[in-house]
Amino acid sequence: MTEGLLSCRRLITFDSTCQGDAIWWEHGAIRMVGDGLELERRVPSRVPRYHLPTALVTPGLVDGHTHFGMWAMQRARVDLAGARTLSEALRRVRLVQADQGWVRGHGWDANHWADPPDRRALDAATEVPAFLESIDVHAAWVNTAGLAVAGVTRQTPDPPGGRIVRDPAGEPTGILLERAQELVRPHLPRPRPDELRARMREAQAAAHRFGITGLHDVEGPEVLRGFRAMELAEELRLRVLFHPPVERLSTLIRHRAMSGQGTPWLMLGGVKLFLDGTLGSRTAWMLAPYEDGGDSGLPLTSEAVAREAVTRAAEAGLAVAVHAIGDAAVRRALDLLAPLPRTALPHRIEHLQCIDPADLTRAAQSGIVASMQPAHLPGDAPLAEARWGSRSRGAYLFKSLLRAGTVLALGSDVPVTTPDPRVGIAAAMGRVPVERATPWFPEERLRFDEALRGYTLGNALAGGVAGRRGRLVAGADADLVAWDVDPAVEDGVGRAMLEARVLLTVVGGEVVFGPLS
Ligand SMILES: [Zn+2]
Repeated sequence: MTEGLLSCRRLITFDSTCQGDAIWWEHGAIRMVGDGLELERRVPSRVPRYHLPTALVTPGLVDGHTHFGMWAMQRARVDLAGARTLSEALRRVRLVQADQGWVRGHGWDANHWADPPDRRALDAATEVPAFLESIDVHAAWVNTAGLAVAGVTRQTPDPPGGRIVRDPAGEPTGILLERAQELVRPHLPRPRPDELRARMREAQAAAHRFGITGLHDVEGPEVLRGFRAMELAEELRLRVLFHPPVERLSTLIRHRAMSGQGTPWLMLGGVKLFLDGTLGSRTAWMLAPYEDGGDSGLPLTSEAVAREAVTRAAEAGLAVAVHAIGDAAVRRALDLLAPLPRTALPHRIEHLQCIDPADLTRAAQSGIVASMQPAHLPGDAPLAEARWGSRSRGAYLFKSLLRAGTVLALGSDVPVTTPDPRVGIAAAMGRVPVERATPWFPEERLRFDEALRGYTLGNALAGGVAGRRGRLVAGADADLVAWDVDPAVEDGVGRAMLEARVLLTVVGGEVVFGPLS
């Protein structure tokens, strides 16, 4: 059933010519937006009615940056997110069972731990090889058995773009930064395809409960096969824009793949390329050294290699999505992307967490999308102050970028943060760091409608589908969400948003979450 008539308190359509308090859809597309009483008379009686007099209805939310397959699998692994101490993390590790010979986990964040994580501490919790990814996935914590399986010893050199953290005696501590994780990753058991698809199906249902109707996914070919299998089985009920890694570039070009190709459910985005690491792992690449000592971070791809790749991609009709967090990486990304030929989709910078004032208007001038994740802000703000000092003024510059005319495509970076878009919207509206009460650079806060636009129309523009998604207008796909309260009417710092519940999620006209699903 892909038809319905929904009446509500307020509709946000993102189109001034299309207003009302009711919306009618059929055959998966919006037929009309208008006055509730009039539509009630007009719409045939066989069409299901949803009468939600207190609800706010918005376009379906699209998560602009996900690792959906990784999230789907991690839902089944030890979750270390929120562990406040080393011993709390180890307690959780002790409770899990090994799967195919390995203990797998995710989500640790040692930035506030008194004792740093190392392999010996982990050895005490499990003798089975263990591989635990950090919350930002830019570091791994491995025990002695895990390093032994991978053959990592004191003689192993740091791979390009990676670092094996070592103790004063030169022994690996068990912490592997960035590409050093790849020394162990090939030894990890791979999920069986049927298991991955089953987990992705469960994760899709969880996404629908959050009001998510689409995502821009950044992953490898296994997950793409998972999405394809779901689509073939007519199970895919998320609009997926898929960004493969740049390592796939030659294969994509050989197959004449171009951005924008695909189906209404699964479309090819741009190739993803890393220019640096993260703030949390001290690998974000900055123009000047970190304030609290040390270097300027870790550039991950040389300029020549990056330029060759992005040029080949764009000339073949493939958009480019560049991971850039530090101000040096962001400048490099702008330098690389600005001269590229246009493709069906705009080029984009992923994260864009710190920008030098001199570069503020450059993304807008070149039509480059800023794909940002507000939910990182509360945890990152104290780190940014300590490590970037006054350069923090250029961090998470939502409002200034928007004012400059930049398209913001907002997302979560799940599983680095929760995929719950309420958390991201609230963080963009409030900018309140963890364990603080006041906003951080309050002038950079977004209004509710601006943040919501970033999760809807912004992502439609980034996906090249603004003609049929991101607005509630006649002819557009019927992808929409009903919320139980109107978060715009309250305090304006996002608290009301956190309490809003999703009543109904509709994708392609089908109720995928709600009273009749
Ligand atoms: Zn990511």
